[in-house]
Amino acid sequence: MKYDYLVAGAGLFGAVFARQAKDAGKRVLVIERRNHIAGNVYTEEIEGIQVHRYGAHIFHTNSRRVFDYISRFAEFNRFTNSPVANYHGELYSLPFNMYTFNKMWGVVTPEEAAAKIAEQREAAGITHPKNLEEQAISLVGTDIYEKLIKGYTQKQWGRPCTELPAFIIRRLPVRLTFDNNYFNARYQGIPIGGYTKLVENLLAGIEVRTGVDYLKQKSELDAEAEKVIFTGPIDEYFGYSLGALQYRSVRFETEVLDKPNFQGNAAVNYTDGETPWTRIIEHKWFEFGKDAEGNDLPKTVISREYSSEWKIGDEPYYPVNDERNGKLYERYRELAQKERRVIFGGRLGEYRYYDMDAVIGAALTLADSEIGGRRTDCGERG
Ligand code: UDP
Repeated sequence: MKYDYLVAGAGLFGAVFARQAKDAGKRVLVIERRNHIAGNVYTEEIEGIQVHRYGAHIFHTNSRRVFDYISRFAEFNRFTNSPVANYHGELYSLPFNMYTFNKMWGVVTPEEAAAKIAEQREAAGITHPKNLEEQAISLVGTDIYEKLIKGYTQKQWGRPCTELPAFIIRRLPVRLTFDNNYFNARYQGIPIGGYTKLVENLLAGIEVRTGVDYLKQKSELDAEAEKVIFTGPIDEYFGYSLGALQYRSVRFETEVLDKPNFQGNAAVNYTDGETPWTRIIEHKWFEFGKDAEGNDLPKTVISREYSSEWKIGDEPYYPVNDERNGKLYERYRELAQKERRVIFGGRLGEYRYYDMDAVIGAALTLADSEIGGRRTDCGERG
């Protein structure tokens, strides 16, 4: 065998595992079916701006170890994510905080805001939220649910909020303070120079072949390596033999505009049900910070994001982690455990709505158990 590990997929999971294996003296080959590395965190430069080609990625974590680890491969800026919600032209602060409550209800103090939420929760009669709709109303009341959650979520997931798991909305903080920071994370930022550069640095000195589809050349590639780390879709690996898992796909319409400042913020979410896109990203604001006023670059690049149901052949983005898919995934996982030479990892290999820091933590944990050596204990979620 020429290699100890064949890593299929050059996204964050594959690149971190490959780095750890290489540093432990293992022989590693990384293959990637796209014609570029970095998976969905891929960024490319347009008009001097790092464009997040597969959607906005804002790194955030509470794990000091994950942050220290990834900081070896890129320097992070101090970007704080504060998306704005646009509901039919009315603007609200996100995540849900005192600015949002003040604009929605005119309340001024945290007590007034808490009382308003409690009043709406009680009127809706929700005690034990069973789905996303009930969870949302129970957290922030019916007005915010109707204006800022319902339309956005139904566009994003293509399903009614009553059919979606409650955990999705618990990703967002609810605060009785004037704090527009979208994440409860001690460390956050965007890698200076882009994510592609970060992944290039992770893969430095490692053999990488892009444009190679593992599943199309499985037997010849398997013959080259002792073990395979597979980071593609677990159901595709098994030829969808038990049926396809559901994913949401995303399409981006990216435009270069001849003006320095389009929307004054990195992310504006269109939370009504009628606007066809879910959000617009103005990429330059991830990089330069809001103080730069945009005047240093005469142009700007924006991406409108449209969500759609995934079908075979599309790019899968979000796993639809409802009960039905959860059960199907468990059956695929049982098959996966019987594949003695193959380990499945990452967002698609584990069918998880993974944040980047958790992916990195999981890849480090796998590398520790596979390759041994120093324990990094990076499994904590950000
Ligand atoms: N969400 C919402 N309104 C918003 C932003 C988010 O209702 O303006 C809900 C929606 O259901 C979404 C979930 O919160 O799927 C998680 O949002 P997050 O920003 O974490 O999604 P991501 O950035 O991963 O797409």
